[in-house]
Amino acid sequence: MIILKIGGSILTNKDSKESEVDTESLKRIASEIKSSLDNSSKELIIVHGAGSFGHPPAKKYKIGEAFDESEYPQKRIGFCETQNAVKELNMHICKAFIEQGLPVIAIPASSFMTATNKRITEGNLDSFKRYLNKGFIPVIYGDVVLDKELEICVISGDQLIQYLAVNLNPDRVILGTDVDGVYNKNPKTHDDAIFFDKFSSLDDLDTFEGTTNVDVTGGMVGKIKELLYLADLGIESKIINAEVENNVFKVLENEKVKGTVISRGN
Ligand code: ADP
Repeated sequence: MIILKIGGSILTNKDSKESEVDTESLKRIASEIKSSLDNSSKELIIVHGAGSFGHPPAKKYKIGEAFDESEYPQKRIGFCETQNAVKELNMHICKAFIEQGLPVIAIPASSFMTATNKRITEGNLDSFKRYLNKGFIPVIYGDVVLDKELEICVISGDQLIQYLAVNLNPDRVILGTDVDGVYNKNPKTHDDAIFFDKFSSLDDLDTFEGTTNVDVTGGMVGKIKELLYLADLGIESKIINAEVENNVFKVLENEKVKGTVISRGN
């Protein structure tokens, strides 16, 4: 089984105030996945981020922050607005995938997962296994869920990757984003950033300036933390640049692709 995450940074214009799908990237990635599955059958789970769809409403309503009982009606609407926004992105993604002939089935986290203090603590994955057994590709995405401590919270695609990997024991975990992998500092703002083929500790980062402007879920640092947790359990993951044509195809085919392997080993 392969768990593949496609970052919100690839599928949407994250900096845009409007919710915009990057239809070209979406179509290209869908066709790369299809080509790989045509080459050889694979069990695949797809996770995607919320990008410019989820972050603005989540930020506007401060989803995940403690609040008074009197604010509940407002928070509830914020929760619904966010859930609907990420569902809309998921609809675009699933539509493009189905058009390429990929049998994707959306399984939204908000419909079956519960968190405690922003960490997923409940979420039965039996339906994932059942769909996989029948040849479907389950798709899950950054979403809002009920939280036992905070009432409601946001769950990132990166946390979902971690939860799925811990519970489903995949052969490979791959994350496609809009940079080649992990650097010692943000490569988009630092020309002298140094690239890591392998990454094993947060100490290797020069700066924790890891969030993109509207990202409420942690940006690259949040991603790395989830993946280091997996590394501690012996589950290796790889971050690649999904913006580079054919990278998604190649990585699915186990061909050499530039990227950062997150593992605790040498
Ligand atoms: P995605 O939406 O693909 O999951 P994010 O936008 O959350 O990805 O994170 C990727 C972004 O993190 C990159 O576009 C990059 O600008 C930023 N970033 C910050 N620090 C680093 C770093 N040390 N190494 C690589 N990227 C970084």
